[in-house]
Amino acid sequence: FLKGKTALITGSTSGIGLGYAKALAAEGAQVMINGFGDQTAIDGHVSELTAISGTGALHSAADMTKPDEIRAMVADCTEKLGAPDILINNAGIQHVAPVDEFPEDKWDAILAIILSSAFHTTKAALPGMKSKGWGRVINTGSMHSLVASPYKSAYNAAKHGLSGFTKTIALEVATKGITVNCICPGYVWTPLVEGQIPDTMKTRNLTRDQVINDVLLANQPQKQFVQVEQLAALALFLCRDEASAITGANLSVDGGWTAQ
Ligand code: NAD
Repeated sequence: FLKGKTALITGSTSGIGLGYAKALAAEGAQVMINGFGDQTAIDGHVSELTAISGTGALHSAADMTKPDEIRAMVADCTEKLGAPDILINNAGIQHVAPVDEFPEDKWDAILAIILSSAFHTTKAALPGMKSKGWGRVINTGSMHSLVASPYKSAYNAAKHGLSGFTKTIALEVATKGITVNCICPGYVWTPLVEGQIPDTMKTRNLTRDQVINDVLLANQPQKQFVQVEQLAALALFLCRDEASAITGANLSVDGGWTAQ
């Protein structure tokens, strides 16, 4: 149902963003992915997205800390694939430390990648959506858009900020056929999370099951990771006409985390 539409997804060379890209491509959207990583792997993702969409796919290596590169990415997408009809702001990084020890450069990078990049992409993409009278902006928030955990001051501030940004833009474009929402996942099963398990087993002298249940999923009542495909299914639904009244919402997909 997305044939003829173009989607731009930041931070989509792995994990959740790549899941969004595959789901949108499977519905026929042209997709521009973005992010870092091994070039051969990225080329493989672009080929796969081209094959499953039956249309074009491209990769942009724009750094989400650099406003000039972000604007150039949106311009490049517009020129080569079409102006983005669907924009997913998904790039994110994490750093965990008490605030009085938090490195300034990590604070700046987290705020830039999670929050300011969404401002720059949205600013650049909205005029095209307005002129078509249709658009979808989907921001990847977190349970930490809504509640906090200690030692994640920059991430939680940025994700709470992204939620406020979402609501504001939703109001600004409410009559233009454009919806703006935030998907707020709990712990999601991604290579990033999987990669933390061996280290945590070693440093805390725990079994794999203990790390999963007592550390990672300690606050996730369902005691199961959210799956990338579950987030992608919600993003797809938000792109449907049936979802046109959902805007300015924080949609939790967190196994009950924020019910506590
Ligand atoms: P991931 O590390 O697998 O993916 C992050 C992506 O962002 C990668 O493609 C990476 O290359 C890209 N990226 C990082 N820095 C960048 C930069 N400066 N410029 C451009 N791209 C950059 O992580 P993920 O788990 O898939 O997370 C994706 C989003 O979901 C993030 O915003 C994260 O905060 C959010 N989230 C993740 C979880 C989880 O449990 N994994 C939970 C809640 C929210």
